[in-house]
Amino acid sequence: MAYNPPRQHVVTGGGGIVGLALALQLRQSVPALVDVTVCDPGLARARKAGRVSTLAAGPRRFLERLGVWHELGDAASPVTAMHISDSQLEDALRPIYLKLSGEISPGEAFAHVVSEEVLIGKLRDACARAGVSLRATAVADDRLEGEDRAISLADGSNLRADLLVGADGRPSPIRTRARIGVSRHDYGQSGLVATLQLERPHGGIAVQHFLPGGPFALLPMAGNRASIVWSQPHAAAQRLASLDDGALASEIEICFGHHLGRITLLDRPQLFPLALGIARSFIAPRLALAGDAAHGIHPLAGQGLNLGLADAEALAAGVGHAAGLGLPIGNEETLEDYQRTRRAPAVAMAAAMEGFNALFSNDIMPLRRVRDLGMGVVDRAPGLKARIIRQAAGLTAPRDAPPRQA
Ligand SMILES: Cc1cc2nc3c(=O)[nH]c(=O)nc-3n(C[C@H](O)[C@H](O)[C@H](O)COP(=O)(O)OP(=O)(O)OC[C@H]3O[C@@H](n4cnc5c(N)ncnc54)[C@H](O)[C@@H]3O)c2cc1C
Repeated sequence: MAYNPPRQHVVTGGGGIVGLALALQLRQSVPALVDVTVCDPGLARARKAGRVSTLAAGPRRFLERLGVWHELGDAASPVTAMHISDSQLEDALRPIYLKLSGEISPGEAFAHVVSEEVLIGKLRDACARAGVSLRATAVADDRLEGEDRAISLADGSNLRADLLVGADGRPSPIRTRARIGVSRHDYGQSGLVATLQLERPHGGIAVQHFLPGGPFALLPMAGNRASIVWSQPHAAAQRLASLDDGALASEIEICFGHHLGRITLLDRPQLFPLALGIARSFIAPRLALAGDAAHGIHPLAGQGLNLGLADAEALAAGVGHAAGLGLPIGNEETLEDYQRTRRAPAVAMAAAMEGFNALFSNDIMPLRRVRDLGMGVVDRAPGLKARIIRQAAGLTAPRDAPPRQA
């Protein structure tokens, strides 16, 4: 007689991009074996507009396999090149020290700038179509009961799960309840995010401009718009955010230069306090953390969501594999494998961002000379540049998607 593995249940606390991508991948790969519930009070409303993320080619391919990428249309804009420069505000010229450009494969840009609001909307629709149960309520409590997680929801109902995934963002109440500590470092900076209309074409070029107060990034969007992330010490960021649109646009022009013509603000700026936070463990019995709940890093290289989507893909692959073998999906070996695969890259990325921010967010002349020299050397070494681009595209680590079920 054929062996039919038992149906199991994954509950994801948090329906941001990471929680939804994980849920969708599970339902698409093992629909006959795993039921998936996503709980998030935010599911009752549209995500706040104005946030974008730069997605590298690796996570973009994951979204393509999930079938949501082609639905994004204009909400995803290709990045044709990235220019990195380092100068003081009063410098008349902004020399570009490093230019990264090129396609990962013919017609495939190494990164895209994606509207988070639109991507979340498309993921929600795809999850609903795939049979994910979407519950617009918070995970209020959870505890280990025998081999399961017993979960209480804020609407008063209860669930049992073979695996609970904490994809509930930086504060992560699920991580806190599991008593998983976090290694933290406060950068003393806030990221000011705003959307701009540019007068001259940006040509798909992303800019990372290192200033003494913190990095300034300009991310190209469709319709000759751009999103900026301007990291500044808290007080300076608050001052900028309190300016009226015209005065803030002038400050941005001083910072960025005038080569893209007149800058107009399309929305009011939002501030995000920047801190590093890496969970000391990504797992606990019948529990796994993914996305910002597991790691929050500096946005200067635009890698936080990229890491989170790689978590979702790796965890779904492990869970799908265990379910196919009829093993408990929250078994220790599967969770240990997940932690081994995902914690090291997150820690390495966090350390790299920490180093970059410390090296560049200052105006000490010998340090400026060293970093400018370093960028100049990389710029003249095509082999090294190609490797950096593949790494920035998230294509250096193997990505195993779980086999699809018929
Ligand atoms: C200024 C800035 C710029 C950035 N730019 C980039 C970039 O260019 N590229 C990039 O890759 N990354 C970038 N990032 C990082 C990226 O935005 C995050 O890594 C990503 O959004 C994290 O997604 P997530 O799904 O893990 O968490 P979140 O998006 O925080 O989602 C968590 C969800 O959990 C829900 N939740 C909370 N508590 C509960 C509960 N008790 N029960 C149920 N649900 C709960 C919340 O409602 C929320 O919907 C940037 C970050 C910042 C601050």
